[in-house]
Amino acid sequence: MWNFDPSWPASANEMTLAAQLLACTSYIRSLWSASDEEHQWRRDEVEDALAQLARQEEVALPPTLRDLARRLANIQQLPRGAAEALLLRIEEEAKRALLADLAEAPSTAKEYVDRRASLEELPWLGSHARGIPRGWVPLFEKTAQLLQKDSRGAPDEARQTEDLKEKYGTLRWDVLGDPLFYQLAFLAEEMSEHCCLACGQRGRVDDAHGILLTLCDEHARLRAEAPRQLSDLMYEEK
Ligand SMILES: [Zn+2]
Repeated sequence: MWNFDPSWPASANEMTLAAQLLACTSYIRSLWSASDEEHQWRRDEVEDALAQLARQEEVALPPTLRDLARRLANIQQLPRGAAEALLLRIEEEAKRALLADLAEAPSTAKEYVDRRASLEELPWLGSHARGIPRGWVPLFEKTAQLLQKDSRGAPDEARQTEDLKEKYGTLRWDVLGDPLFYQLAFLAEEMSEHCCLACGQRGRVDDAHGILLTLCDEHARLRAEAPRQLSDLMYEEK
């Protein structure tokens, strides 16, 4: 889903490049840790991903991200230490760009219910909004803001949610509609990989007994100590 379009809101293109950079860094890390048997196909995967790095001259993209994309495309010429440092820098910048301008997640149960009710009124979300965990409410609010900025796109009624759920700790959001709507649903899924389900702060996938959840450090600790309390926080209205 590395689509760019000059008619889209600038931040949709910027977030797409950020997500693309993050995918490339994760492919490179899996190449570095690949077994001998995996090595060749991991290498092909990295080469494909790097070859696709955006060279969208007609789309306005921030110079920092564009520059990092250029440097990443040539990463295989760097010594390992310099390559690792470049990956860390790219991951930090790309996450910042992907998660920019996200609101705070609801801090009380009442606020969670109210903000989810507002999302339910959006024609492209409807009753699916009831399944949104507390920490991910801001992802959908950001999607709504970006759709509002899209003056030339499809009317809201032409967009709809087919399915929305958390799976393996991240968002799965199937939609029908115009290309921008597909792209924003994809970007919400990408954002969900870095947002704690309970509080919306920066998180990563936490694996306990094979069940994956995206959590910040504090809520990963709560999960270990009081799992019931954590699920109340994520979904309950109390
Ligand atoms: Zn958290």
